[in-house]
Amino acid sequence: MCVGMPRAKLEKMTFSSELTIDLDALAANYRSLRDHVAPAACGAVVKANAYGLGVARVVPALHRAGCRTFFVAQLCEAFEIQPLLDTDCTIVILNGLDPGAEDACADAGFIPALNAPGAVERWRVAARRRGHALPAALQFDTGMSRLGVDAETARRLADDPQFQQEVSLRLVMTHLACADEPDTSVSERQLSRFEELATLFPSAPRSIANSFGTALPPAFHHDIARAGIALYGVPLPEGAAVIRPVIGLRARIMQIREIAAGTGVGYGLTYTAQTGRRLATIAIGYADGWPRTLSNRGAAWHAGERLPIVGRVSMDSIMVDISALPEGTLQEGDMVELIGPGQSLDAVAADAGTISYEILTSLGRRHARVHIERGIATTCLAGEIH
Ligand SMILES: *Cc1c(COP(=O)(O)O)cnc(C)c1O
Repeated sequence: MCVGMPRAKLEKMTFSSELTIDLDALAANYRSLRDHVAPAACGAVVKANAYGLGVARVVPALHRAGCRTFFVAQLCEAFEIQPLLDTDCTIVILNGLDPGAEDACADAGFIPALNAPGAVERWRVAARRRGHALPAALQFDTGMSRLGVDAETARRLADDPQFQQEVSLRLVMTHLACADEPDTSVSERQLSRFEELATLFPSAPRSIANSFGTALPPAFHHDIARAGIALYGVPLPEGAAVIRPVIGLRARIMQIREIAAGTGVGYGLTYTAQTGRRLATIAIGYADGWPRTLSNRGAAWHAGERLPIVGRVSMDSIMVDISALPEGTLQEGDMVELIGPGQSLDAVAADAGTISYEILTSLGRRHARVHIERGIATTCLAGEIH
């Protein structure tokens, strides 16, 4: 790991792999989502270090694009992004309020999602102690069984005149379990449960849509959408906001070799060449977030040519079959594409048997990062900026 290396040495460095983050595309995606859900507002979900892409560059870029409401999962993530924002911004903590976090959360002015009766009670106690109402989002569980209060708790709170004197409801919200599925019947059922409960708190703004929720009919857009994955370049269905790819991933060829028929490749020799092949060993592995489930599956790409992965994914390397390219096309030291025009993030996720969210948030700290902003690319080491 090269983190902490003096800048002078960095100038002369090469990088084994390179993650490109197009902040112009990110900003365009934000504006596209915002325009699509208007007159509803669009908030940005930047939990898990902006899905692994780094809050330090992503959050200011979204702010410049006009975003004023940011959603994180955890209290420490809220503290991490607060210095990057103006005081006119709202930070909502989706995972809510850990026991003991009430004062830290209230002092900082964060908006916790109150997800369970215990958290509601602790927030009310804190408000009484401080002598003024505290802001919060109230989350309803409308059928996902993950986070949120049930209908009975919601009705009890609505009937309690003290509740809204102690808690200033900035948002009522729920989360869709099946927003990305073509069959919308589960989403419709959740929508009607949500509206029934939201009506109990008529003055509170409403939020139900995540990225794929913005692709559902306008009835799902309410007052504010909570867009995550689409900001980072995962496309939405036809007719929804148009999304541009945000990330690219390339890694360097360390070695090229010819192998004869019958030669085994990689740990466990799980691949054996049937005929003579030309292989390239590429500097990316599962320690870089390139999943081990891509062993003997998936590919790298070069100049529109698919280069299948052969053998197991190692910690720091993979082997790909480059026999389809004319000899001499690729040299040691060249970079091949892992995510880019040839192969989308979604395609990699499908080959790996997972979802784009998991690939994105796993990309790790070892890639050099190239940020594109206002058309200009700048490179930094992963450790320099998170
Ligand atoms: C992560 C999350 C989102 C964002 O979801 P995407 O599918 O990435 O748009 C929205 N709301 C809640 C409650 C979440 O946990």
